[in-house]
Amino acid sequence: NLSQQHLSIATTCPYCGVGCGVKAVPQGPQSATVSGDVDHPSNFGRLCVKGSALGETLGLEGRLLHPQVREGGQPGGALRQVSWDEALDRAAGQWRAIVDEHGPDSVALYVSGQLLTEDYYVANKLMKGYVGSANIDTNSRLCMSSAVAGHKRAFGEDLVPVNYDDLESADMIVLVGSNLAWCHPILFQRIMRAKEARPDMKLVVIDPRRTATCELADLHLPVKPGTDVWLFNGLLAYLSRGEAVDAAFIANHTRGLNEALEAADITPEEVAKACRLPVEDVLAFYESFAATAKVITGFSMGVNQSSAGTDKVNAIINCHLVTGRIGKPGMGPFSITGQPNAMGGREVGGLANMLAAHLDLDKPEHRAAVREFWDSPRIADKPGLKAVDLFQAIEAGKVKAVWIIATNPMVSLPDADQVRRALSKAELVIASDVVQDTDTNAFAHVLLPALAWAEKDGTVTNSERRISRQRGFLPAPGEARADWKILCDFAQRLGYDGFDFQHQSDIFAEHARLSAWRNAPDALPRVFDIGALASLDRAAYDALQPVQWPIGRRVFDDRRFSFPDGRARFVPTVPRLPVNTAGGEYPLVLNTGRVRDQWHTMTRTGRAPKLAEHTPESFVDLHPQDALLCGVRDGELARISSQWGSMVARVRHGGGIARGSVFVPIHWNGQTASDARVGAVVNPVVDPVSGEPEFKHTPVMVDRF
Ligand code: SF4
Repeated sequence: NLSQQHLSIATTCPYCGVGCGVKAVPQGPQSATVSGDVDHPSNFGRLCVKGSALGETLGLEGRLLHPQVREGGQPGGALRQVSWDEALDRAAGQWRAIVDEHGPDSVALYVSGQLLTEDYYVANKLMKGYVGSANIDTNSRLCMSSAVAGHKRAFGEDLVPVNYDDLESADMIVLVGSNLAWCHPILFQRIMRAKEARPDMKLVVIDPRRTATCELADLHLPVKPGTDVWLFNGLLAYLSRGEAVDAAFIANHTRGLNEALEAADITPEEVAKACRLPVEDVLAFYESFAATAKVITGFSMGVNQSSAGTDKVNAIINCHLVTGRIGKPGMGPFSITGQPNAMGGREVGGLANMLAAHLDLDKPEHRAAVREFWDSPRIADKPGLKAVDLFQAIEAGKVKAVWIIATNPMVSLPDADQVRRALSKAELVIASDVVQDTDTNAFAHVLLPALAWAEKDGTVTNSERRISRQRGFLPAPGEARADWKILCDFAQRLGYDGFDFQHQSDIFAEHARLSAWRNAPDALPRVFDIGALASLDRAAYDALQPVQWPIGRRVFDDRRFSFPDGRARFVPTVPRLPVNTAGGEYPLVLNTGRVRDQWHTMTRTGRAPKLAEHTPESFVDLHPQDALLCGVRDGELARISSQWGSMVARVRHGGGIARGSVFVPIHWNGQTASDARVGAVVNPVVDPVSGEPEFKHTPVMVDRF
């Protein structure tokens, strides 16, 4: 009806990196109906089951509504409700004392791809420009930092050169380490429809598991876990010998092919052996790839979450560079991000080794430009600690204060019991959250209530670099505040100017101006430039329609890459196995990932009964023969143990699992009768370039609980 249409508010889904537009119609102070936004160019009104159930996840049960401090400062001590002033005075006072005594690197922020770009911008500015340390890292480190590192090595800038509509015009799509059907369902539906319309379009899935995505595949290559570099090195070698090579593109726009080919000296037969695949299947994939000009290689966590994650990304990109299949419609390497605003966080430099606006922390002229723009008292001059290293430094007593915002590292980090030890040793743990009781909040000395999805305002950027507004449609509950506002209030207590923002649009304008700062061919050129949006006033910002950057053009349509010489780089990738291999006491390989209907640690999706129906509890997928050897039966509870820790889950046969592997979902937490945190089992090994943990490969044993 008319009044409901009038109240309908366009916002974005808070879950995966597809970034679907939704329309919310408030039905009272704590409820709303939610449907797909037909005008949003990323989803055209379609939503997956998680997005469709958003209306069921609202309500204030379990919400953190007031600032609190812990009596006695010890975990387990009682929490006392206090005013915002008292909470912030205590947090800022203790933070300042620690910095004064131990220096800026003794404090850290650990933030989240759930934050809006404006929140992220302020957090990054506070740490790098004012505290003077790059100790700000994010749970996006666990998700796509290998893609960022691979892009920077190949292109000179963190750039994703594919749009969603390219998926519809491609003649072949290769999905590597991605269960798109469950993890990015609206993108999968777009591919499904394209394939229905053009049955000749090919889909190849490369994944050790036979997932739901494989149902649509023309070819599934169940590679041995961790061997993707062998497969793509073999493809590079194969392509380099055939007619698919784009010699003019290589000569005019790239460097380093010979070095990459030296590292990729492998035959299809050797690839088949290393990857445990039939050689006919390897050749079928290679021949198809070589023969198809419009090919997209989409990759996700199976590539990124690896101790060789960055090399896997570059091995894929090398195959697109040798064929010149990049920067044109229907082709290119495509990093599919997991979180709703992983891309926005990258734009503002929200990782410990990045600066804002796609500028580099390790380049003095970039640091000088950002400091001058901010007019800040200092600028961090070396990379900060990445997520896993950060919590190890807290346990070692080197980092004494940490502020955790919108994330739950006690569940989500690898070796999660180490996080418990770290937080119980820290002098100061501040946690900003929307939920009162989480595994992490139990260790907070100061708890700060933040606005949740339905209440907050700002922008997010999705996997195709499309900036969309997220708009609040319910009133702020209790004393909850926007994350950017909490950060600004904290910064002002530390005596920092530069945080006098009155509205999220002021922050967005500054962020947009910085993206254009010195962004010229004879200065510090980069593709990321949203300077055209810097002049939006508050009304125009509120009305902003989804907009993709670079505005009005395609990434790399000019065949110019972001190195000073304008050329892309082939990166030699020498194959190496995962750091910890299965055998002896731990004979099985643990793989982790999402299920179809849950998100992260389920603080939101766990509230919708309909979403629990698909997978009501945690499980371990096990091949029936492995189950027999482990002495566990389908439906029984089992303990999954590694040398780092253990957890309990119900045994399931099936799930497309191969012998020698097990799969456990990431969502369940430690607040159940039996600890179901798979993070406690995962090895803390990381990729040496990106720092991304090896979530897909931990040696484990399984026995009866
Ligand atoms: Fe939300 Fe992702 Fe589903 Fe779209 S595909 S509705 S962004 S969870």
